[in-house]
Amino acid sequence: MARSGLEPPTTRVFVVSGGQVLIDDRPDGTTELVMTPAFEAPVTETHRYFLGTDADGVSYFALQKDSLPGRMDQSARPAGLREAGLLLSDRDTALMVHAVALENWQRLHRFCSRCGERTVIAAAGHIRRCQACGAEHYPRTDPAVIMLVTDEHDRALLGRQVHWPEGRFSTLAGFVEPGESIEQSVVREVFEEAGVTIGEVEYVASQPWPFPSSLMLGFFARATSSEITVDGEEIHEARWFSREELAAAFEAGEVLPPYGISIASRLIERWYGRPLRSRAT
Ligand SMILES: [Zn+2]
Repeated sequence: MARSGLEPPTTRVFVVSGGQVLIDDRPDGTTELVMTPAFEAPVTETHRYFLGTDADGVSYFALQKDSLPGRMDQSARPAGLREAGLLLSDRDTALMVHAVALENWQRLHRFCSRCGERTVIAAAGHIRRCQACGAEHYPRTDPAVIMLVTDEHDRALLGRQVHWPEGRFSTLAGFVEPGESIEQSVVREVFEEAGVTIGEVEYVASQPWPFPSSLMLGFFARATSSEITVDGEEIHEARWFSREELAAAFEAGEVLPPYGISIASRLIERWYGRPLRSRAT
């Protein structure tokens, strides 16, 4: 039987399972998402997610399965987003993020939030429909703000979350609350977590963060006070760092950079002026 939308040669597919995909470390040092033409794809997928069509007319699908397939070649290996995001090209990372985000959403929305009955997948993975009440549920994205706060001396405010290991510092971050603008969210979060007041707020960039369904909105924020009072609930410790102090702390191993794929790294690097060390940690 023809499998509509999956005909070769203009369709490429890959398997996603539990947030993991297969990646392949190439001899030239690059790493690729392992994709196959549709006719080679496993036919027993649980669900199929349409991820889009590129400028060359190639369509991409993720097949959601209970486990990753056997290795298609010797060098392929399973990887989650935190690892693969550091290695894959922007295109492959975007495909993987999309697939992982849909998989997370599907997993968490098996039941109708209106009537409680079971929902079924529709629209190539982009809708879950309730067969009892007819409600259609769409993938959701939860906005979160992440901000590099600087003071009048151009020092950066970095904090350590309560569940992070000793020495792991990063930008402050938090979820946008209902009825709040994202700028208000930046001001509130910084004050709640570190007791620092904020004046000017400048949007920088965003990043999808499917753990499980966030969109991280990155900002630079200028402090109007410098005294730190951590909340102790989300942030255990916060400090002002000059560039020299941060460089020395990295050197001494007192401070570990944030996880490499996070937008936090990019915000800090833009202030710091050069790449952070040990990006893969
Ligand atoms: Zn329902």
